[in-house]
Amino acid sequence: VCGAYDTAALARELTLLLGSEQVLAGDGPGVAHYEQDATSARGLRARADLIARPGSAAEVAAVLALCYEHEVPLIPRGGGTGLAGGAVPLGGGVLCSLERLRAIRALEPGLWRMHVEAGLRTREVQRLARENGLCFPPDPGAAEQSQIGGNVATNAGGPHACKYGVTGNWVTGLEAAVAPGELIEVGGPYRKDVGGYDLKSLLVGSEGTLGIVTAVRLQLMPAPAEALVLIAFHRTAAEGCAAILELLAAGVQPAALDFVDGTALRIAAGAWEDGNMEIPPDAEFALLIEVDGTREQAHAAHAELVAVLEPSALELREPDRDALWRWRDRVAGAVSAVRGGKVSEDIVIPVEHLAEALARFAEIAERHGLQGCAWGHGADGNVHANLLLDPHSEEDLTAAAHATDELFALAVALGGAISGEHGVGALKGGQLARQWPPRALGLHEEIKRVFDPKGLLNPGKKLARAPAQQPPTLASARSNPDA
Ligand SMILES: Cc1cc2nc3c(=O)[nH]c(=O)nc-3n(C[C@H](O)[C@H](O)[C@H](O)COP(=O)(O)OP(=O)(O)OC[C@H]3O[C@@H](n4cnc5c(N)ncnc54)[C@H](O)[C@@H]3O)c2cc1C
Repeated sequence: VCGAYDTAALARELTLLLGSEQVLAGDGPGVAHYEQDATSARGLRARADLIARPGSAAEVAAVLALCYEHEVPLIPRGGGTGLAGGAVPLGGGVLCSLERLRAIRALEPGLWRMHVEAGLRTREVQRLARENGLCFPPDPGAAEQSQIGGNVATNAGGPHACKYGVTGNWVTGLEAAVAPGELIEVGGPYRKDVGGYDLKSLLVGSEGTLGIVTAVRLQLMPAPAEALVLIAFHRTAAEGCAAILELLAAGVQPAALDFVDGTALRIAAGAWEDGNMEIPPDAEFALLIEVDGTREQAHAAHAELVAVLEPSALELREPDRDALWRWRDRVAGAVSAVRGGKVSEDIVIPVEHLAEALARFAEIAERHGLQGCAWGHGADGNVHANLLLDPHSEEDLTAAAHATDELFALAVALGGAISGEHGVGALKGGQLARQWPPRALGLHEEIKRVFDPKGLLNPGKKLARAPAQQPPTLASARSNPDA
């Protein structure tokens, strides 16, 4: 039974709508991957009662209408790469997978525009743009698996957000299924729109709690003619962070300015594709930098980079660009592999406090008896703070929960925010209360009620305040195999 409704009866209605192959039992064969997202290494898993795989936007709206009529929770799922447990169906209900919404509705290279359905993978969107001489800059990791709808729902960033901004900056319009079960389109194939409240931006980053994104209109840009990369190794995080501030003060505009700390560098060195990445023995920090533009612009910016970084860096290295970003994508996996899992949070702080944030995170990790390491988007002040753990150890999970609690407090104390990219999902429910005043939290909750009066869209996710019953903790999620 889904809530008060009979699961078998709901399955029959969904089957009439979608066909039998597109309605799966949550405990059926070959569906385990729908129980988890990228937080599975933290032990978060849950089974939906039913999995619905609609094949069109109209079918998504019809599934939503059915769930709304019968008061059944509905959880949208994209590629399942989310890092906040947003797509994990913690309370059961119907999981709505967008994987079959793959149509390219329009590709207009001359107008720098693309209109695609939500289930297209991020890498496919990037490739389509590139094959037409254009570029779709947002580049969250896991692009082979994540979907453009999931990127919109989490307002995903990535290294190139440094110059080009996050996914939402490239969305001019979107179509969504909203309660009680109809399709709306907000925005369109135009770049400016101040006619109404900005519903498009409300849906961007709403993590499936306000509506289900079915299609997006994307702005593209001409691909930069040249992109040059550089790795700058520094002796300490403090020196590396100071170099970031020097680059900004010098007016250099990097396309990407990521950092990786010494622990992560050494763990991931072996993940370099043609052998080991040689790390200078004294290096405790590396900046991964890209500059782009016309050939002349890119080379001029590169020369400026070298001039600013040379005095402080231990070594400057010029690797192959693709190899560098592929390695950067592998860092998370290499770090996870050390103890079988990791807790990874992504606080964001004003960039001038980056060095302090990293030093205090290291101290927090050590005090809680866990190995910590960090990487992230340096110029954005976005820190991916990782605690290595054994996902089967209650002790580790409890220590990580205490440490992350202190980390969120630290972010807010430094004038920052609890999440720069990954969102609130199931794991950070209530943390926003540290950051926002009560009236703002109330507005957040009222907006949810306006869009979703029955509270059925991804319930328990993106909660501004802790609910009376606490959101699932890592330990409680693990101790209940069905939750
Ligand atoms: C190795 C790795 C690296 C990553 N690097 C980055 C990074 O650099 N920057 C970054 O921002 N993120 C990063 N992420 C996080 C993740 O990849 C992004 O958040 C991604 O955009 C999620 O897309 P998805 O399709 O996998 O969504 P899912 O995980 O399926 O879902 C994420 C959330 O969006 C909702 N959702 C999904 N599709 C829809 C839809 N069509 N309509 C409404 N709601 C929907 C879900 O309910 C859930 O709440 C990384 C993850 C991994 C595993």
